[in-house]
Amino acid sequence: MRYISTRGQAPVLSFEEAMLTGLARDGGLYVPESIPTMSHAEIAGLAGQSYEQVAFTVMRPFIGDSFTDEEFREIIQKAYAGFGHEARAPLVQLGANHFLLELFHGPTLAFKDFAMQLIGQLFQVALKKRGERVTIVGATSGDTGSAAIEAFRGLDAVDVFILFPHGRVSDVQRRQMTTPDEANVHALAMDGDFDDCQARLKDMFNDFDFRDGVRLAGVNSINWARVLAQVVYYFTSAVALGAPHRKVSFTVPTGNFGDIFAGFIAKQMGLPIDQLVIATNQNDILHRTMETGAYTKAGVTPSISPSMDIQVSSNFERALFYAYGQDGAAVADQMNDLSKGGFTISQGAVDFLRENFASGRASEDETMASIKATYLRTGEVLCPHSAVAVKVAQEHLGDSPMITLATAHPAKFPDAVKRACGQDAPLPARMADLFERDERVTRVANDMDTLQTLIRERTGN
Ligand SMILES: *Cc1c(COP(=O)(O)O)cnc(C)c1O
Repeated sequence: MRYISTRGQAPVLSFEEAMLTGLARDGGLYVPESIPTMSHAEIAGLAGQSYEQVAFTVMRPFIGDSFTDEEFREIIQKAYAGFGHEARAPLVQLGANHFLLELFHGPTLAFKDFAMQLIGQLFQVALKKRGERVTIVGATSGDTGSAAIEAFRGLDAVDVFILFPHGRVSDVQRRQMTTPDEANVHALAMDGDFDDCQARLKDMFNDFDFRDGVRLAGVNSINWARVLAQVVYYFTSAVALGAPHRKVSFTVPTGNFGDIFAGFIAKQMGLPIDQLVIATNQNDILHRTMETGAYTKAGVTPSISPSMDIQVSSNFERALFYAYGQDGAAVADQMNDLSKGGFTISQGAVDFLRENFASGRASEDETMASIKATYLRTGEVLCPHSAVAVKVAQEHLGDSPMITLATAHPAKFPDAVKRACGQDAPLPARMADLFERDERVTRVANDMDTLQTLIRERTGN
C-alpha cells in the first residue's frame, strides 16, 4: 500500500513514512493510492466482533508491510485498553430511528483519543525499530493537546511539547495537559491566542535547521493515520444496526473535516452509507460551500462548541481530491487560490460532493435548545458539539437509521451544559480527582527564540 499527495508532486511513501511525515512536501495531504474494499460477506462477518477485532480487519489493508500482523494487533490492544467503556464506542438510542455514537469514553473524554491513542503506539513501535527519537510539537485550543499528551506520555522514543494559549482553555482541558508527570511531557502556556500558538508552530516547521535538529514530527488532524483510526467506528456502529443488510446514515459535527472524511473512506470501502451529513456551528464555511459551491473564508466567531471554530478546514482538501477525480494539479490550483480568500469549485466536483455529503448548521441558540430538548426527551446530556450534530441530524431523518457522532463528554464543557439544561456534568469516576492533582506547566512568551531554546535544551539537541 502506497500513499500519494493530494497535490501530486511529493514523493510516494509507505504507510509508516506518511505517518511520520504528516504534511506532504508539496503542501498536500497523503491519501492511499487506491482504497481497499470489503465485500458484503466480509462486512457481515464483523457482526459480534470486539472493537479491537474490527479495528484490525478494517485497518490492516492500509498498513501494508509497515507492521506485522502480530505487532499491529498488539498496538491496537494497547491503544484502546485505557478506555472507560468495554465497547469503546457504544451506541445509545435517542429516538425511534436515531442513535448516538458515544466517542467520549477515552482517557481525555473526546473522540480524538481514538486516533491519538493509536498513533502514539504506532509511533513508538516504528521509532523503536528505526532506532530514532522524535520531538512532537503541537498547538491546541484544548482537545487535541490533551489527547496528544495522554497518548505520548511515558513513551521513550518521543518528547511531546504542547503550546496552548494561556488563560484561554477550560480548567478541565488545562488540567488534562498539566497534570501528567512523565518527564517527556511538556505543557507550555503561551501568551496570546490559539492563532499565535499555531503561527509559532508553523514557524518551527518552516525553520529547517531547527526542524531537522530536533527531528520535529506533527500529529495534527491531517495525519493520515489519524483519519484511518476513525474509519473503524463507522463500521462497528453500522454493523451493530444491521449493515450491510441495510443502509445507515451518519451526522458528524465537523471542523477540520477529519472525522467525516473517515466516513467517506468507510463508504468507499463498501460500507452501505445512505447519507453522510456535515454538521457545522455558526462558523459554517463547509455548509455554505455545499450550498453555493464557493469556498470563501470568513472570520471565526467564537462559539460554545470551540473545537469546530475553524476558518480553513484542512482535511477538506482530501474530499476535493476525490471530487476532482484524483487530479493533483487541479487541487493544487484551488489551494493556491485559498491564499487570495477562497475559490469556486467546478460544477462536476460540486455535484460529486453533493452526491456524497449533505449538510446543515446550528446557531448558538439552536445548540443550547438541542442540549435542553435532548435532555428532556431522553435524559442524555450532550456536549455542545454533539448537540450541533443532533439538531442537524433531526433535519435529515429518513428511512435508514441515523447515527449521530457524540464527540466529547459533557463534563468537558460544564458551563454551557449547565446553562442549557440546568444539569451538572460531573467527570467520570475514574478521573474525579483531576482537580486535586499537581499541575506542571511552563509559562512562555510568544517568541520564537525562547521557544526554540527551550525545546533544544529539554530534548538535548
Ligand atoms: C476536533 C473536534 C471536532 C471536529 O472534528 P474534525 O475532525 O476536525 O471535523 C468536533 N468535536 C469535538 C469535541 C472535537 O474535539
